[in-house]
Amino acid sequence: MVDIEQYIRNITDFPKRGIQFKDITPLLASREATDACVQQFIDLLDNQKVDKVVAIEARGFFFGMLLAQRLNVGFIPIRKPGKLPYKTLKESYDLEYGTDSLEIHEDAIKKGDLVLLHDDVLATGGTAKAACNLIERLGAEVVQCNFLIELEFLNGIRKLPNQNVKSLLKY
Ligand code: IMP
Repeated sequence: MVDIEQYIRNITDFPKRGIQFKDITPLLASREATDACVQQFIDLLDNQKVDKVVAIEARGFFFGMLLAQRLNVGFIPIRKPGKLPYKTLKESYDLEYGTDSLEIHEDAIKKGDLVLLHDDVLATGGTAKAACNLIERLGAEVVQCNFLIELEFLNGIRKLPNQNVKSLLKY
């Protein structure tokens, strides 16, 4: 049994003073640990049908694609503004200071699609909430939001009251 927590490195004062950043690159560097994570994500899905995996730029893409491959479904990126080349839907969300936004291609998912949303970290929840809004605006259903890491002390889950939220590690 792989202890995936051992592969998460804490970086103090990154990217800003006062933030302890969870660095997942040691985990990505281990084939054994990434395999263990994919298997745990699959177990958490509990045979739920999924039509598409949607993941959030940039660190969500690593496991998002692995999960799509494993589930034998397509992968859809949600990106920062101005990065996607075709027609997009945009959703803005609040940050501590100011706002940010995310985009998805308007033809990326279809009405009624069952979507698994993935990102590496759930912190305050604003990013995941905006991503869920984009998916739902396209008429699809988010069947699960999964994260490698949930920073429970930031209570991001309160922004996702109607979602089925699962995380491999909680701090
Ligand atoms: P939120 O909107 O506050 O929940 O922030 C979540 C987003 O910030 C995710 O897309 C994460 O990739 C990123 N993030 C926040 N904290 C960390 C961290 O400690 N490590 C890696 N990414 C983080």
